[in-house]
Amino acid sequence: MMSWEERAPEGVYPIEGANAFFLEPSRIISSNYFYFSAIPHRYYSRSFFLPHQPQRADHLQASNVQQKKRKRKKLSAYALNPKELLAQRRHQDVRKFILDAHTAFMALPEVSSFLKSLEKHLYECKENQHFSYSECKQDTVSEMIDFVELGTVWQASLYSMTLSMVNATNEDCNGSTQESAEPLIKFPLFRHMIENNTDKELLGSCAGITTILPKKSRFLMSDLADIRQTLSSYTGNGYNLIIIDPPWENRSAHRHAVYSTVPNKHLLFLPLKELAHPQGALIGLWVTNREKLRAFVEDVLFPAWDVDIQATWFWLKINADGCMIGELDTPHHKPYECLLLGYMRPQGNKSDSQIPVLKFPPDKQVLISIPGDHSRKPPLDSLLSAYVPGQDSVRGLELFARDIHPGWTSWGNEPLRFQQMHYFEKE
Ligand code: SAM
Repeated sequence: MMSWEERAPEGVYPIEGANAFFLEPSRIISSNYFYFSAIPHRYYSRSFFLPHQPQRADHLQASNVQQKKRKRKKLSAYALNPKELLAQRRHQDVRKFILDAHTAFMALPEVSSFLKSLEKHLYECKENQHFSYSECKQDTVSEMIDFVELGTVWQASLYSMTLSMVNATNEDCNGSTQESAEPLIKFPLFRHMIENNTDKELLGSCAGITTILPKKSRFLMSDLADIRQTLSSYTGNGYNLIIIDPPWENRSAHRHAVYSTVPNKHLLFLPLKELAHPQGALIGLWVTNREKLRAFVEDVLFPAWDVDIQATWFWLKINADGCMIGELDTPHHKPYECLLLGYMRPQGNKSDSQIPVLKFPPDKQVLISIPGDHSRKPPLDSLLSAYVPGQDSVRGLELFARDIHPGWTSWGNEPLRFQQMHYFEKE
């Protein structure tokens, strides 16, 4: 029998019999690079190497049984407020789809061997002190940079990025010809669009570290307050696929001090209509399960952007043993997050022949993966590209991005975060 890796080397595995896919993000990322690949144990460090190790399902159930009983008792005595009732209703509508997808996933014969081999590989890499490319280079600082902080110091406007080609003769960690890339050109690091329009990845050096820019990609690092002066001037013909993962106000981001958040109404400041293709765009917006946010998106944000919701996809997070990261029916911290997908209507008065043909994304599709860093979403480019309106090729834009994808533009206050060499090794 062919393994999953052989059948879908790019990390997107359809789950037969369910409206679902299993995603292996480090493989998806690696498929985008020619010279580099993502280091799996760096991608999954949170799921595999934190002190609370994943527990086997039976163990989990046995140890939590008392706790769950107490919780249930407490909840049954507690009357839900109207918002909680609405959230519960939404959950009831979708839980069957999520459960069916997860059951179909767990029943696949390849799952257990795949997860075991992934876990084994990650632990071996870790034990063997598997170094990344940057850590082997004497002259490169192996620590990572906090770009959000860097962008707020008074010298921010003085920082620049030098682009250079990856020299194919560069050897691996033990090689002696490490530094041979020729600098190409220097750009301001902040508030400026930096582009790699070549067919292979480029290296970007800034503030003492090296980052990787995938082929045909570009990024702009700026704050939401500046977006109209910065990103809006690089719209070109407009984007027909826009993914937004806002820093919604939530306790988890605050508690973990991962990133700063913005009040909901500030998202109305995003110039979405200016950024979108005049013939319309597929918009994907990540939301948490809080009813307040869902209501804000449905009643305020999408109407302001002329976006009609077409489908909701669910990202189901699993542990290294394949079990959901938490109880499906818990009122808070559900093991899934939602991606709302809608079409922005074409702008201006369009005759019927100018209205693009739409291929609607399937509703209630479930995407299953093991999570990476806090709030890091799995890459969905290949799944979403099929639903871009019209005949044009995909012009993708990610807002509030923390990484960069080939063919896409990334904007946010730290789009280089996961492009640092720390996350990659040379092929
Ligand atoms: N989609 C990303 C991923 O998969 O890794 C996660 C995005 S995270 C939910 C939100 C991002 O918005 C963070 O990188 C945060 O630093 C950024 N952000 C917060 N406030 C911002 C602001 N005022 N302007 C621009 N970006 C901001």
